[in-house]
Amino acid sequence: MDCLKYDVIIIGTGISGLFTALNIDKRKNILMLTKKALGSGSSELAQGGIVSCIDKDSHYKDTLIAGSYYNEKDAIITLQDESEDSINKLIELGVDFDKDESGNFLYTKEGGHSNARILHHKDATGKEIIRALTDKVRERKNIKVLENTSVIDILSKKEINAVISIGDSLKIFYAKSVVIATGGIGQVYKNTTNPLDITGDGIAIASRAGINICDMEFVQFHPTGMYSVDEERRTLISEAVRGEGAVLRNIKGERFMEKYHEMKELAPRDIVSISIFKELIETNSDYIFLDVTHLDKDFIKNRFPNIYEKCLSLGIDISKDYVKVSPTQHYLMGGIETNLNGRTNLNGIFACGECARTGVHGANRLASNSLLEGIVFANRISREINSISFSEASISKEDLEKDLKLYKGKFNNFNCILDLDDIKDNIKEIMEKYVGVIKNDENLTRSLDTINKIKQSLENNLKLSKDYFEVINIVTVSKLIIEGAIKRKENIGAHFKADLRRDCIVR
Ligand SMILES: Cc1cc2nc3c(=O)[nH]c(=O)nc-3n(C[C@H](O)[C@H](O)[C@H](O)COP(=O)(O)OP(=O)(O)OC[C@H]3O[C@@H](n4cnc5c(N)ncnc54)[C@H](O)[C@@H]3O)c2cc1C
Repeated sequence: MDCLKYDVIIIGTGISGLFTALNIDKRKNILMLTKKALGSGSSELAQGGIVSCIDKDSHYKDTLIAGSYYNEKDAIITLQDESEDSINKLIELGVDFDKDESGNFLYTKEGGHSNARILHHKDATGKEIIRALTDKVRERKNIKVLENTSVIDILSKKEINAVISIGDSLKIFYAKSVVIATGGIGQVYKNTTNPLDITGDGIAIASRAGINICDMEFVQFHPTGMYSVDEERRTLISEAVRGEGAVLRNIKGERFMEKYHEMKELAPRDIVSISIFKELIETNSDYIFLDVTHLDKDFIKNRFPNIYEKCLSLGIDISKDYVKVSPTQHYLMGGIETNLNGRTNLNGIFACGECARTGVHGANRLASNSLLEGIVFANRISREINSISFSEASISKEDLEKDLKLYKGKFNNFNCILDLDDIKDNIKEIMEKYVGVIKNDENLTRSLDTINKIKQSLENNLKLSKDYFEVINIVTVSKLIIEGAIKRKENIGAHFKADLRRDCIVR
């Protein structure tokens, strides 16, 4: 049994966890825990790029329009004011953004943006950022990384917080400051662009610890996830492809976005996804087409090399063939409620990145604002932590044993007899069918009833294992999303309820 006390514990090693760690005073001892390998998560999959607020007024307006004016204005201003510094830090840490022959940055455009303002590294911006940040973390003597270790609970105490994790064994670590940077909730849905380790753990753990969670009904569906029936993670066709001129066609080959919005294919994501969904119903289809065949082949291959190769490996030459796409779960606007310094309502517990609800995105995120939000608020948390005195609290062997005994006590008399894989599949199916792009109260109420029953049976069959916690986290997050959706009475941003027949909701 390890008993270790750190100055800071960071849960998650995507962009926000890594950037927090790298900006904390080198004299502080940091422990980073990650469910998979260092750098895993959605960040390394980001294609389009990162917003650079080179034109503050129009960026402010675009962010508000995309977010249906539900955004916290202070949060957007903070994001803008600190964007240049944070992006410069990324560059200092070794991130290489695309430049023209004269060395000027190249900017691209995505849905909802009125100007080209997105920095990118070809179509693999996330991979480049994570490469640079993980290289730096590996060099830092004050940062210890524990891979393949799932945090399962946080116990908040007066002076110090305890983090319980399962890797090769059950461990408890202590720190004055704990940063939750566990990413989104994608794997709560059957179809998602998020990787397998993204199951909403941080939000469920925070909720169990008594931390405020809000706006969970605002789930973003990306309009162009590559259509497939059996993949665990759907390939994303970046919005930047539409930014460079791709168009959407229904299965009859007709362009349709002009019927729904003046910005056509570059309308905000919620509008494009809802429009596609309506088109799918009208044409009785499961997918539409993304068409880039009118663009120059060399341009496509050079600008989107990864997307081009991925499609080619599936037998689709996008310079000649249409790609089948449909709206796919992609991002969560809600989550752990934080103030502008990343603080939650519990002392010493912070959150940043996709699991945090800072208020920047409102009811729907403007494309490419999330990587920026990740670094700006991670940096603010680091500043906050740097100003906190080193922890005086000492942990004795007796304290540790008492904490663990108490924690383990909850599990002593139980043995899980449930089929966890089956429960997980069932939940993902419910979320996909009834809690998707267009919802209705009847289906939501019925789904909540089923999910409450599943949650109860899991709680009656507690088990101290990684798999058990992943499933209870998925169930907890689903419940929070559905409750939020039932409670919200107006259609706003990514939250859309309509009285459709149930069979219309099945994709
Ligand atoms: C395919 C794709 C493309 C995208 N493209 C863009 C883009 O172009 N621009 C943009 O701005 N945004 C984009 N996004 C969104 C953006 O990438 C994410 O919102 C952002 O990267 C999230 O970063 P994060 O650090 O919060 O979480 P992540 O990068 O998801 O990292 C979460 C980390 O937490 C760990 N973790 C989770 N649970 C636990 C646990 N219980 N215990 C220990 N560790 C845990 C994970 O293993 C992982 O290391 C994209 C997202 C996807 C999926």
